[in-house]
Amino acid sequence: MNPVTLEKLVALCKRRGFVYQSADIYGGLNGVYDFGHLGTLLKQNITSSWRQAMTRTDRGDMLLFDGSILGPHAVWEASGHVQGFHDPMVDCLACKHRYRADDIDLEKACPHCGKKEWTDIREFNMMFQTNLGAATDKSAIAYLRPETAQSIYINFKNIISTNRVKLPFGVAQIGKAFRNEITPKQFLFRMREFEQMEMEWFCKPETAAQDFEYWVEQRIAFFAHVGIKKENIRQYEQKPHERAHYAQRTIDIEYNFPFGWKELEGIANRGNYDLSQHTKFSGKELGYFDEATNQTIIPHVVETSIGIDRLFLTLLFDAYTEDVVENEERIVLKLHPRMAPIKAALFPLTKKLSEPVEKLYKDLKRKGYSVQFDETGSIGKRYRRQDEIGTPACFTYDFESEKDSSMTVRNRDTTFQERISIDQIETYIKNLTQ
Ligand code: ATP
Repeated sequence: MNPVTLEKLVALCKRRGFVYQSADIYGGLNGVYDFGHLGTLLKQNITSSWRQAMTRTDRGDMLLFDGSILGPHAVWEASGHVQGFHDPMVDCLACKHRYRADDIDLEKACPHCGKKEWTDIREFNMMFQTNLGAATDKSAIAYLRPETAQSIYINFKNIISTNRVKLPFGVAQIGKAFRNEITPKQFLFRMREFEQMEMEWFCKPETAAQDFEYWVEQRIAFFAHVGIKKENIRQYEQKPHERAHYAQRTIDIEYNFPFGWKELEGIANRGNYDLSQHTKFSGKELGYFDEATNQTIIPHVVETSIGIDRLFLTLLFDAYTEDVVENEERIVLKLHPRMAPIKAALFPLTKKLSEPVEKLYKDLKRKGYSVQFDETGSIGKRYRRQDEIGTPACFTYDFESEKDSSMTVRNRDTTFQERISIDQIETYIKNLTQ
């Protein structure tokens, strides 16, 4: 079996309409991508699995949130992003190429032009800044959020006064984030515009350590649920000098990418840093009144934070397989059926048999199933088309079907085929995703 490479995935994503380079016809926008039909469906499956996993917690309540993308200067000053959210940057004076200083060896020559003429290392703030309205003074400065979490912290008072929640409880949010990465790379791994799924778990200080362990376990279970191979996931506990100064513990869930083990999700016990900072900077008390002790406390926060796009890329890497079926090489995405953008494809053996199959297809679509109808090309070709996009089951209607009211179902991974009664097809598809 040939190993999966980034190039193969990028090509597949473009060929089959999962992901396109943004503004391609104008030369492309570096680090920004558009998602096509299948990519959008895969993203939807990712977000709905995450939302389900989050809201299923038996520990306490889980609330949903959808904050704004623009935030005023004051928010990002309080959060520490204005002062601290930067990467070290260095330029080659000879060819003007720009690098993240921690990405290259400055003792060596520029990998682009071969000369060794480096500028000093400068800190580069990664937030996208803009101005609100016509004013240009500091009060008009706003930023596109580099993470979704802050909008939850600054709404803490609104959230507790409108939801009748008791500690512990969580707030889960899915939304866009923007980082002006110096060198966006590895396709969806490091983008300038991306989407995050973040959950802030507010708890009493005395349960934070235990709740942190709980969420690490939950997140590991989530990766199994979406079908990622266990051996490709590991936990990396950040050393004290690596983690943010306020974080009491941070575990990165890493994936074994072809370019090395890299962070897929970060889980952090953030203490009460965030709510304390916003209390200090806004002058508004962001505490929680604990009826049991008659005291106001500042809750501690356990955060889980993952990029949808990074998980998307991970699922593709994990699923991408090249094998040989009936002496023919094929590419197959062995996605968990839950994640597969198309759950089933329906084929008439010849165009003459299309009518009953189209009827079944329309019926399944009306009921909300993500299915495709394909009547062109040989059955083998149609299988390959579906294998490449990860469709778990293909049903073929042949001349026998007219007599026995059955179709042949073919399994994507094993290519095993069997007859199935047409009235069982809906249940078959439903069972795939459970
Ligand atoms: P890295 O070290 O990989 O840059 P980070 O520590 O800066 O990540 P966090 O701030 O912890 O990342 O962000 C949480 C999650 O958001 C990451 O685990 C990742 O899944 C996702 N993420 C962060 N930056 C990007 C990006 N530029 N493109 C795509 N996803 C990202």
